[in-house]
Amino acid sequence: MPEIPPPLKPPKRVLLGPGPTTVEPRVYAAMQLPIVSHVDPFFYQVAEDIRIMLGPVFGTESHFRMVISGTGSSGMEAAIVNFTDPGTKFAVLANGYFCERISDIAGRQGASVVRLEKPWGETFTAEEARDFIAREKPAIVAYVQAETSTGIYLPGKAVCDAAHAHGALVIADCVTSLGAMPVDMDAIGIDIAYSCSQKGLSCPPGLAPIALSPLALERLRARTAPVRSFYFDLKLLDDYYEGAHRYHHTAPISMFYALREALAIITEEGLESRFARHRRNHLAFVAGIEALGLRMHVTDPANRLWSLNTVSVPEGIQDAKVRARLVAATGIDILGGFGPLAGKIFRVGLMGASSTQENVLAALEGLEAALGAEGYRPAGSGRAAAERFYAANPA
Ligand SMILES: *Cc1c(COP(=O)(O)O)cnc(C)c1O
Repeated sequence: MPEIPPPLKPPKRVLLGPGPTTVEPRVYAAMQLPIVSHVDPFFYQVAEDIRIMLGPVFGTESHFRMVISGTGSSGMEAAIVNFTDPGTKFAVLANGYFCERISDIAGRQGASVVRLEKPWGETFTAEEARDFIAREKPAIVAYVQAETSTGIYLPGKAVCDAAHAHGALVIADCVTSLGAMPVDMDAIGIDIAYSCSQKGLSCPPGLAPIALSPLALERLRARTAPVRSFYFDLKLLDDYYEGAHRYHHTAPISMFYALREALAIITEEGLESRFARHRRNHLAFVAGIEALGLRMHVTDPANRLWSLNTVSVPEGIQDAKVRARLVAATGIDILGGFGPLAGKIFRVGLMGASSTQENVLAALEGLEAALGAEGYRPAGSGRAAAERFYAANPA
């Protein structure tokens, strides 16, 4: 017989990484409610409540919005497999880790993947995107609106305009923008947008919201060959949640309760207030970072995510040691970079319920102490600079 493990006692963490983010007590409480069956009318109503509340968060009036049972990557996979067949010309604007994953999944579907590459931390001008799409004439264009590996924000209007001028559909990864920054799906012209539950929405990981434009829906409905994935077949999923309520899989009921509650919190706060809160905390954090004598990895402030801050690691400092000191002293959990940015950046998430003034001040103070212990001489007090920013910019 295996030994019985002691009762679970998770360490106390302040989740300021690239996700998961802080889960509010109301969301945990919703997860404790009794489950019903996945074909109970009560469950279908929960799914419908989620569908309705997702509309404004995605910035779309398009009816087709649902939740995939799986993490953000399942949203990515669903977005790709329903619109990609062997030989489909699939263009990727590649400037970070998640663009690599999109290319990988499209390649596994047999797509002919073409890429426009940029170093991690740079973004694409409207002309570059236009020229690339005009030259390649792809059927699908994919980009990452909020690149969590680099801190780059690319809203995507020029990408969508160019793609539509050539009859292509646009897939946008909105994993780290949804619920924290405007996704603006309709205004920007995104055809297929997906995200996850554990970043800007501040739910535990396990669900991936996805939305389709009317044009994407038309293409989906016109499809005759079966999608090369049963689990992510959006037509079958639509039939389960909306149409005939035909069983497809056993949806994770407790996670749906959690997401419904998280979306209710967002609806109560109001999107404008929520985005303003994220922007203000981001700007205060940047003021603190610069006061410490550190640099943001993304040079142009207009291209910076509010939800995920990338800070260059100073010369001669080992980022893993700083992060280990920070979490040991304060419980604040941030992450480092990976791929070409390994050892070069800290990634500090300020999303959803984690985006608070208290967390910004504590993170700056904790970073200053941890960097100091590793031999870095800060130029000034980060915490004091952020406090001045808050005083000068009331909520
Ligand atoms: C986190 C993330 C994903 C993947 O989400 P998982 O929940 O880890 O599967 C995809 N794209 C971006 C931009 C992300 O930040």
